[in-house]
Formats: sequence, C-alpha cells, structure tokens
Amino acid sequence: MSKILVHVATADGKIKRSSLEVLSYCRKLADDNGLGLEAAVLDIDPSRYTDALNTYGPDKIYNLKHPIFSNHLSSPVIDAFSLLVEKSSPRLVAFASTESTKEVMGALAARHNAAAIPDVASFTLNGNSVDAERPVMAAKVLSKTSSSSDLVFVSVRSGSYDTAEKPGTAEVEEVAFDFDEAGLKSVLKEVISSAGDKVDLSEAEVVVAAGRGIKDEEGRKLIEDLANSLGAAVGASRAVTESGLFPATLQIGQTGKVVSPQLYFAVGISGAIQHVAGMANSKVIVAINKDPDAPIFQYATYGLVGDLFKILPLLTEQIKQVKAG
Ligand SMILES: Cc1cc2nc3c(=O)[nH]c(=O)nc-3n(C[C@H](O)[C@H](O)[C@H](O)COP(=O)(O)OP(=O)(O)OC[C@H]3O[C@@H](n4cnc5c(N)ncnc54)[C@H](O)[C@@H]3O)c2cc1C
Repeated sequence: MSKILVHVATADGKIKRSSLEVLSYCRKLADDNGLGLEAAVLDIDPSRYTDALNTYGPDKIYNLKHPIFSNHLSSPVIDAFSLLVEKSSPRLVAFASTESTKEVMGALAARHNAAAIPDVASFTLNGNSVDAERPVMAAKVLSKTSSSSDLVFVSVRSGSYDTAEKPGTAEVEEVAFDFDEAGLKSVLKEVISSAGDKVDLSEAEVVVAAGRGIKDEEGRKLIEDLANSLGAAVGASRAVTESGLFPATLQIGQTGKVVSPQLYFAVGISGAIQHVAGMANSKVIVAINKDPDAPIFQYATYGLVGDLFKILPLLTEQIKQVKAG
C-alpha cells in the first residue's frame, strides 16, 4: 500500500504542535485516499513519544534513536530520512515548516530525484498529483503548485490545520541508525536563546505582540503584564525590535517568526503586510489600535479602537479577576 510519511519534530521532551497538525491532517488525507500513514521520530529517546503519537492514529512509527538528534543538524536528518524513504517507499513525505526543514527537504529531493514543495498553507492528493497552495511575496499572493513526481516532499506552515485526535495502536519499528560525526562538515557550537523567551513563540497558544504604539518602557511593561496574566508568549513588530525595546528573536513577520496561536493580540501594530505575513494564520486576532482605519482591523476577529495605555491595564486586571474567580 502506498503511504504518507510524516516527520515528527520534538523539542524539550515534547512533540511540536505544528507536527501534530501535520500528522492529524495526513491521517485524514490517508483515510480519504486509501493510503497508510507512518510517523518518524528522530530523537535521543524516541520511544517516550509513542503514547502521545498513538492519540493521532499513525499505522506505524519509526523510531530512530541517536545522541546526534539532541539538537538540530541537517546532515544527520537528511541521512536518516534517506534511510526511511528507502525503507518505507512513501508517496508523500510531510514536515512541519521551519527554516531547517527547507534545507533538509531540498537535499532529500535532490538525493531521491523527487519534488519539494516548501511552506504550503494547504495540500491535497488528486489522482497522481500533489496539489498545494503556498503564500508567496510576503503572503500577498497565493501560488498554486502541482507535482506528479512519484515522490513529493512538502512542508506545511504552522496553523494551517487543526490537530484532531484519532486514537489507535501503531506498529513500532526501532530503526538502527549510525552516523559518523567525524564526517560532519558543520558543527553546532552553541544554542543561544533569549532570556525573555519564557514561552516558545512559534508554538505558543496565546501571543501578545507589541508595535510602535507602545512607545517606551511603560508600554513594554503593560505588554508583559498582559502576557503574564494570560501565560502568553510576547512577540513584536519590526518597529520595536529595531528600536531595541524588544529583542530581534521576538520579531514576527516576513523577516521574523511565523506564529499561529489560538489567540493573537496585536497591540499598537498598524498591520503592515510584512507583519501580517507572520501572524495571519492565528485563529482569533484581537487588535488594539487608536486609529480606526489601521489595516490590522481588516484581519482582526475583534477590534478595540482606543488608547492602549488605557485599555491594557483594564484588560489585564479583568483577566486576573476572571482567572482568580
Ligand atoms: C523587506 C521588509 C521586511 C519587513 N519585515 C517585517 C517583519 O518581519 N515584521 C514586521 O513587523 N515588520 C516588517 N517590516 C516592516 C513593516 O513594513 C512595518 O514598518 C512594521 O511592521 C511597522 O510596525 P508597527 O506596526 O509596530 O509600527 P507602525 O506602522 O508605526 O504602527 C504603529 C501603530 O500604533 C498605533 N498607535 C500609536 N499609539 C497608540 C496608542 N497609544 N494606542 C493604540 N494604538 C496606538 C498607530 O495608530 C499605528 O497603527 C518589513 C519591511 C520590509 C521593507
């Protein structure tokens, strides 16, 4: 039986939400097209994720255990997936889209003479063809891409699909994987993370994002208070990362991070297309802006027109009261 193979990305002992979204959608796609669904975990201890993965119903799980997977390095992932592609002969291989998967997918496609469609917002199988839609040019344009290659790699933007449980019991195969670190052409020397990243922005369920409207330290404090009251991650527009109010690691948008939370607060953000490119997949968008004509309101589920310096303290206080009660 032809199959779909899904890469399951993990970090800090957890499966990334974006991978569960891809796995959930691929379960449906496999069922609709009479295909098998396989999942691959590359980790220092992959078996710890088996129970969680079974909630999403893959038919088979490949576990590849190796210390080299403690941090992302492209070469071992490319070698590991090459091995899996030969073992499983999938029709389609799906990844959650990240910077690193772009590199991995390109190399894999070249190695296996296959097609790669990166960063899709949706994809489906249509007979022999894989049809995908990808936002391009800072998400101004949606491009339609089709491939009838025998093997297609896709990476899927986070937030494109919902997670959906479908409990099952997968067959588990422990795949022996050897990797000679001496052959690495680049090595990872240090992982630098910002002390301010209390909640991982890319995976956060709630994001409070600040724009130029917050002006100064006082505004920054109001943003952090709101984020703390919600257990949310803090994000920022380029205007406030460039001014130094927030670190560059928190920038959301075309040249920053792509986020897809359940709830996104855009506070004092005008809604420039380059910012929207990084947050348009958010489920519920709340915009707070004193300008009723600000473009961000075109994308907002709820809009509050007013001064953020008056709105944020009231909002934070209300949230604290609701949580306490
Ligand atoms: C190649 C390129 C790449 C880019 N990449 C990115 C990117 O990745 N991410 C990104 O964010 N930008 C990016 N930009 C910049 C982008 O074009 C905008 O300049 C930027 O997003 C504007 O940030 P802002 O909305 O915070 O500021 P502004 O556009 O200045 O908006 C500030 C908003 O705050 C409101 N405001 C002011 N005071 C208050 C108040 N007291 N209460 C309520 N509201 C108030 C104003 O009405 C206004 O709408 C990029 C630009 C280029 C050219």
